[in-house]
Amino acid sequence: MEIIVLRRRGRSRLIRITRVKAAALVTLLLTFWGVTSYLTYGALVKELYAERQRRLALEKELNELTRLKNELLNLVAEQKRRILSLKQENERLKRRNEELLAQLERLEETVYAIERLLARKGLKKLTPASGGRSSVEELLKDAERLLAFLSSTPLGLPVSGAISSPFGYRFDPFTGRRVYHKGIDIKAPYGTPVRVTADGVVVFAGRKLGFGKVVIVRHARGYETLYAHLSSIKVKVGQRVKTGQVIGLVGTSGRSTGPHLHYEVRRWGRAVNPLKFIRWGDDV
Ligand SMILES: [Zn+2]
Repeated sequence: MEIIVLRRRGRSRLIRITRVKAAALVTLLLTFWGVTSYLTYGALVKELYAERQRRLALEKELNELTRLKNELLNLVAEQKRRILSLKQENERLKRRNEELLAQLERLEETVYAIERLLARKGLKKLTPASGGRSSVEELLKDAERLLAFLSSTPLGLPVSGAISSPFGYRFDPFTGRRVYHKGIDIKAPYGTPVRVTADGVVVFAGRKLGFGKVVIVRHARGYETLYAHLSSIKVKVGQRVKTGQVIGLVGTSGRSTGPHLHYEVRRWGRAVNPLKFIRWGDDV
């Protein structure tokens, strides 16, 4: 094997070496190159690894900071919301307060109006004449007394429906004779709940000739109400009932031509026109 070695000065020189030597030389060179490369590469890898660690640490820190920032932003938003909701609540309370004051004023006016009305009708005043009322407590007391008065007076209808037969003289549908109708007949579907028109005590619950199943309730100040032709009775004698309570169901028991309620209002034993208590204020 021949190797041409180029020289700076002058001519090139020819060196003759054996194949084995050449191979050994190449191996040596390669080994040298390999070791050098390995060492260089190792240092580089180490450097890169350290760099990567630093970057990871920074990233971690950045993430942590971002999380903190978001947390703070959330806190701020939460506080803002809270303040806003407090403001709204405050506004709402203010409005409610104004509403209540207006209602209280209306209530006061109503109490006065009712008192004037009762006075015109020669009825006892609900409140003592002495002194003006100033406190809410007194006003409430008045309202409570008024409520007690109203709830013990039979007002309104026990069922809603058309009046098929009014109070007073009429021709009896069975006999054709002129008779005095002591109540009103209200048309309503079979089974409609019948509601008592004032607070009171049940004094009769059972069958009566002509009336079929009937309930009589006694109220304050001489009032009594009667509910007849019921299909079912929901109360017992001696039971206390509250205005609006269901005392029975509409039916057609007794002398009746179809489902309806015969309703009577009595005062001190005398039948009065129940319709007078429906447009209240005219005749109570
Ligand atoms: Zn009737």
